[in-house]
Amino acid sequence: MNYYVVDRGDEASLRLAEHFHKLASKHGMILDEGKPDIVLSIGGDGTMLHAFHKFIKQIDHIAFVGIHTGHLGFFADWKPDEIEHLMALIIQPAPASKLKIVQYPLLDILITTENGTESHLALNEFTLKGVEKMLVAQLNINDEMFEMFRGDGICISTPSGSTAYNKSLGGALLHPAIEAIQIAEIASINNRVYRTLGSPMILPKHHHCDIYPKGHHQFVLSVDHNLSLRNDVVSVRTMVSTQKVRFARYRPFPFWDRVREAFIGFEEK
Ligand code: NAP
Repeated sequence: MNYYVVDRGDEASLRLAEHFHKLASKHGMILDEGKPDIVLSIGGDGTMLHAFHKFIKQIDHIAFVGIHTGHLGFFADWKPDEIEHLMALIIQPAPASKLKIVQYPLLDILITTENGTESHLALNEFTLKGVEKMLVAQLNINDEMFEMFRGDGICISTPSGSTAYNKSLGGALLHPAIEAIQIAEIASINNRVYRTLGSPMILPKHHHCDIYPKGHHQFVLSVDHNLSLRNDVVSVRTMVSTQKVRFARYRPFPFWDRVREAFIGFEEK
């Protein structure tokens, strides 16, 4: 089996990555940056975003696994002291292996500029924000004008990204089995001219949302952790992607358990 490791770069993650390489070589796994079957992310959820984008062209066959070296994450759910147990599960032959591949929805982002179109894929979310001025943008849903937005920006997230930036914006947490995207406002201003819904909206598969920013201003676009400063954006279309990300699950860890552990804690009354 070919594998690759993406680590956060801090001492604990580097040490754990080193330990994993030793175990992997002992069990005949091959380190392969070109075409890995399995990619380990060692660090946090942010590290998984880096791993996902590093191998974005190969997500149809790669299975991702996350080990956290800080707090429990949504993408990184194995603890450092479980690395040997994890390795034993990874190398188990197929029939005996408890491996289950779970697939989570992704967000397609199609940006139309003055020079053409470009497409991106997000694991967490896409955001569009104003820089010197507020963002003023028309929002269309399924080619019908929906609202005229004025405020700091707009965040469109995947179900697995719903626990990240979207949550800080008051968005709902979406189970990743739901194939949908969520639109959340970032500090909208509402008056007689600019009126927005004010609530997060969840769009099903096959629906799309177009954003038409007004004025030739600079905007900050983000796709997960990648930010860019742009002044050539004409419109942005977002929808549930036909592609999915694949995570290797060797034991059950239900989404709502992860939500409870991350945001509520363990304490029992
Ligand atoms: P970062 O500062 O390392 O990450 C920000 C935080 O988001 C980290 O604590 C990270 O967890 C956590 N995170 C990432 N994906 C998550 C997920 N799906 N569910 C729950 N928490 C998640 O920055 P970065 O590495 O460049 O990551 C970019 C991400 O930061 C964006 O995708 C966005 O979701 C998030 N962000 C959040 C806010 C906000 O909440 N106000 C603002 C901007 C960006 P780890 O510590 O485990 O890595």
